[in-house]
Amino acid sequence: MKNRALKRLIYSLSVLVVLLSYFPGTSYGSIKTDTILNNGGFKIKTIIVDPGHGGKPTGTGHFSHGASGSFSQERNVTLAIALKLQKAIEKDMPGVNAVLTRTTEDDVSFERRAEIANENKGNIFVSIHCNSLSDRRVREQVGTKHHKAVYRTVTVPDRSGRGVLLLIYGLHRSKEEEKTIVHNQVEEDSGMDAGLDPDDPITVILTNEYKRKFRQQSIKLATLINNEFTETDGRQSEGLREQGIYVLCHTAMPSVLVETGYINNPKDEEYLNSEDGQNEIVSSIVRALLNYKSAVENVSQ
Ligand SMILES: [Zn+2]
Repeated sequence: MKNRALKRLIYSLSVLVVLLSYFPGTSYGSIKTDTILNNGGFKIKTIIVDPGHGGKPTGTGHFSHGASGSFSQERNVTLAIALKLQKAIEKDMPGVNAVLTRTTEDDVSFERRAEIANENKGNIFVSIHCNSLSDRRVREQVGTKHHKAVYRTVTVPDRSGRGVLLLIYGLHRSKEEEKTIVHNQVEEDSGMDAGLDPDDPITVILTNEYKRKFRQQSIKLATLINNEFTETDGRQSEGLREQGIYVLCHTAMPSVLVETGYINNPKDEEYLNSEDGQNEIVSSIVRALLNYKSAVENVSQ
């Protein structure tokens, strides 16, 4: 009982910090407006790099094979880009550790990827994918019968997709994300190990605050990456979109999925498989990460 009362006190203090942060214009001594995420000089220490898909499934859970181009597979392209991105982060972002969710050709389940991200206490999650358009169904005339045209339906590849697309988690999946936030972030920051009641109003307030921040920060990071692709590399872009994606909903950190190009478009496929293309993609993501890092770290100054 005593322990419970103490936990309640620690918890209430956390809530007070959140509530105070709603009044940024007022001075509360050393309490800063972004205290909830910038506890005493928040620093980005770990970036999770997630190469989408894979070959042979390992372990249990949900897997997805990925798209194919005319001479390459999405799963190989994403691994090549992710390995380069890991190296570039460790070279150009001193003090930042880059953790891969998959290092071999074998596939890792969505569940395990999210676990790796949370276990390693990632501050940012970047998932690397390639886009692809499904085949189109078209009707074509094959002849005539009794003076009437005869048609058949055929599927033809649609290679018209081009350029990048940035995805952040969709709001319709936010219940699942809330559970992860309660489990990882809120319990840790409030000094409580386990057993938070997700329906407790205090938990709801804290979780909503984290959710708001993570969504805001995901949009901020996605915008920075998109701008680098379009302004520096001159790539075509479909912009930012919200979508319910398992790994993005289960990571308690700002998360962005980068569709680096259309693997079933001949020009994009060539670019995605070239050393120059992969290096350009990696450099753009690293520049965006550096800008994002200085922006969020400066909030706590
Ligand atoms: Zn994919």
